[in-house]
Amino acid sequence: MAILVTGGAGYIGSHTVAELLARNEEVVIVDNLQQGHREALLGGKLYEGDIRDGAFMDTVFQENEIEAVIHFAAHSLVGESMQNPAKYYHNNVYGTLCLLEKMTAYNVKKIVFSSTAATYGEPEHVPILETDRTLPTNAYGETKLAMEKMMRWFDTAHQIKFVSLRYFNAAGAHESGRIGEDHAPESHLIPIILQVALGQRPHISVFGDDYATPDGTCVRDYIHVTDLSDAHILAVEKLRKGGDSSIYNLGNGTGFSVKEVIEIARKVTGHPIPAVMEARRAGDPATLVASSERTKAELGWKPRHAHLEQIMETAWNWHQTHPNGYSL
Ligand code: UDP
Repeated sequence: MAILVTGGAGYIGSHTVAELLARNEEVVIVDNLQQGHREALLGGKLYEGDIRDGAFMDTVFQENEIEAVIHFAAHSLVGESMQNPAKYYHNNVYGTLCLLEKMTAYNVKKIVFSSTAATYGEPEHVPILETDRTLPTNAYGETKLAMEKMMRWFDTAHQIKFVSLRYFNAAGAHESGRIGEDHAPESHLIPIILQVALGQRPHISVFGDDYATPDGTCVRDYIHVTDLSDAHILAVEKLRKGGDSSIYNLGNGTGFSVKEVIEIARKVTGHPIPAVMEARRAGDPATLVASSERTKAELGWKPRHAHLEQIMETAWNWHQTHPNGYSL
């Protein structure tokens, strides 16, 4: 039986496909290749198409015996979601509805879901627990929360069990050096900083230095992409053992400000990386740091690259060897 990975050619999806293949799992990938890259797939069977296309998804479910779904296919940019919420509701919320309807029709009862710390909004306390209030400050987080809630009702009605993984800030690249982060346009902090180090941009813009944090810049909890992938596989194992639906945070429990991230990048790359202070970006909470204690206790998850220097080094290796991402 196969695991269907939606959005499997994207950044976190492709790293998870690589880990599944390393464990000899049969992998089927659905990706519309809007953000994903064919070259990011180290194996598996790719179906190019959209989860909202019913006839296309029928083919995928009819041609393969799908045991479980790992659902990455979604838009994920805070800033863009504030400019164009419709795009987020359509692809993320309606897309997930289409997927859950197909899972119901084809009797697939397990789903691992790519959720986010953006579901919490401004935290009540730090580190954030899974039981804390969810009050998103941006449309992206709101759509992910809606997707989680939808899964809960499909569990109640159709016994589709889910594990929702709330990632903090994914970063870094695969140890093999073969796959890494490549968004167009790039909007994430670490790849942009490394593009400055490569001379592809003149400086890094820091979005706001008047937040209620120690140095005024936003604090985030960075987690290595392969550690995220490991958690998805542990989540599939939990569901295979008959585990109940659940929600887990994925972070390292340490916060780094934007200024601190730039400082670490200067150390790792040896480049001065000029920084320019700019206005706040809409929708950004000041601080997002995870407690992943429940994830460790219940899934047996152990991060392998917990230090930001290590994460940065793998990202730097990818960017140096692939200065234009997957394109030549
Ligand atoms: N950020 C920044 N300059 C950039 C990109 C991001 O100052 O060019 C900040 C952003 O405002 C946020 C943090 O870096 O506080 C992480 O942003 P990113 O987009 O990487 O991830 P997010 O937290 O939105 O998932």
